[in-house]
Amino acid sequence: MPGDATTSLSIHAAGLTNVGKVRDTNEDAYVVDLDHGLFVVSDGMGGARAGELASRIVTTVLPGMILARLHRLRNPRTRAIRYWLRQDILRLSQQLHAEAAQKTALRGTGATVVLALLREDRAHIAHMGDSRAYLFREQHLRQWTDDHSIVAMLVRSGEITAADAKTHPARAQITRVVGMEAPVYPEVGTFPLKPGDRLLLCSDGLTGMVSDEDIAAILRTTPTPQHACDLLVHAANEAGGKDNITVVVVECP
Ligand code: CA
Repeated sequence: MPGDATTSLSIHAAGLTNVGKVRDTNEDAYVVDLDHGLFVVSDGMGGARAGELASRIVTTVLPGMILARLHRLRNPRTRAIRYWLRQDILRLSQQLHAEAAQKTALRGTGATVVLALLREDRAHIAHMGDSRAYLFREQHLRQWTDDHSIVAMLVRSGEITAADAKTHPARAQITRVVGMEAPVYPEVGTFPLKPGDRLLLCSDGLTGMVSDEDIAAILRTTPTPQHACDLLVHAANEAGGKDNITVVVVECP
């Protein structure tokens, strides 16, 4: 879609996915679309190859839906972008649920999504599940998204500590996911980008293995998004690589 306004900042970005050290298949997927300022990470779940299929559906279908919508709306304002991101993710979720009900290969499937859409010096972040967006600004790392998970709810209500969450029996339970039966919307937020900002989108294969302090240290010392992705995946594997690891790093110079 030539001529579409993306962002006036010139952006560099890289993405990397890795199966990890324990699993046989990689159920994560990602998108780095510099031309349209769209970045996505999805972590699939479900038996057999269903998780793999689900995250592939998210990363192949959702960008097309969003970009076609933006094209139709011409230069939408922030409110319209956020409204339509919610609607499009809900629509995809309902489509995936309907498809899963009909196809054995997709039974019980679902996928997280975290996406960043950069428009006119702003980042719009949408997510469902426990894949996260972080903002690294002025050498400080901030988790931008709240996990949609049982343990994150328990931590927020003060019932357990963040340390308890790592070993809690319900730690794998996600409360919102693309493909769930209930018509649940994603959370969408917007913030202005500043020069030097780095955005990190990642699956829980990174955050379950590497602390926020170590992630920040890697983002502080790596010269390019590609270097950062390489070292983040390496750190998760060094820590055990118990899950698939996916990272996308976006940088505003
Ligand atoms: Ca995972």
